[in-house]
This record gives sequence, structure tokens and C-alpha cells, in this order.
Amino acid sequence: MGVDVVTHIKVYVKCKSSKKKEKIKVICCNNDKCKQKKVEISSNNKYCAFCGNKLGTVNKYIETSTVDTCTVTDDTDMINIYCIDDKEFDYFISDSEKNCPLDEIVVDAKYSNPFACEIDYKKIPEQINWFKKTFSKEIKKLEKAYGPKNVEICFGVIHEVS
Ligand SMILES: [Zn+2]
Repeated sequence: MGVDVVTHIKVYVKCKSSKKKEKIKVICCNNDKCKQKKVEISSNNKYCAFCGNKLGTVNKYIETSTVDTCTVTDDTDMINIYCIDDKEFDYFISDSEKNCPLDEIVVDAKYSNPFACEIDYKKIPEQINWFKKTFSKEIKKLEKAYGPKNVEICFGVIHEVS
């Protein structure tokens, strides 16, 4: 399992999401004397590796988006970019650059060669229009899910870790 770190410079959709609190159960040791008490354990072990007690569960509250980012769009066209630090917005990018006026700029962190790349800024509005036209169906789906006021088409840097 590897981690892909890719930086795109392209059009993306920024959606202001509303959050709901969700209760989940996590596996942990409930032994009062254990130094790992209430620390979430992500294994299939039945017993605590520190004190040997049988593992139990504890309720944990996590914030999740009211919109399911995996199903809100048809992900052959538009994919969600998971930004772990950004709790306020969900981000989506297109998965195809067909007939796109501006070549997509992608920086793959695996290749650390220095490079330079111009962006023809005059083509940015053209690029945004192309995006709005090409993905109008998907954008409509996002507007329906998030509310039209909460969906913004942007041009900029998307740093993706997957
Ligand atoms: Zn323990």
C-alpha cells in the first residue's frame, strides 16, 4: 500500500458542507488501570496487548458531512478529493480532461525533479467555462445536494493525498 501525493492546478468545485454529529462505537480497553484505557484500537484482537483484559467498546462522536461525498456525483466524471484538514468544505475535481482548453498541470511528488511551468492566465476563464459546460450535470447534482449558494467553481491548486 503506497501513498500517492499529487498536486493539480486546475478547475475544482468547492462545496460548503453542513456537518452532523454521528455516534460510532470504537474498540478499546476499558480497564481503569491500563495505560491504554479508552484508546481506540484498530485491530481484530480480542484482548488488550498492554494489560491482557478483554477489549470492550466506547462511544465516539465524529463529525460527518450531511452529503455523502462518495455517491453525490457519478464518480466516473467527478471525484471527491478528501481534504482531511478541511472540515468546512468538500472538494471535487473532474476525472477527465477531454477537449479541455488548458493542459492540466500535475505535480507528482514521487518525482522530485525541479520544474517550471507557465500558466496562460488568459485561458483560465475559458477553462472555467469548459468545466461548467462539460460537467453541468454533475454541478447540478452538487447544487441540489449542498444548496446552490454553497457550490463554487474555482481555479487553483488541489493537493491530493490518496
Ligand atoms: Zn488494557
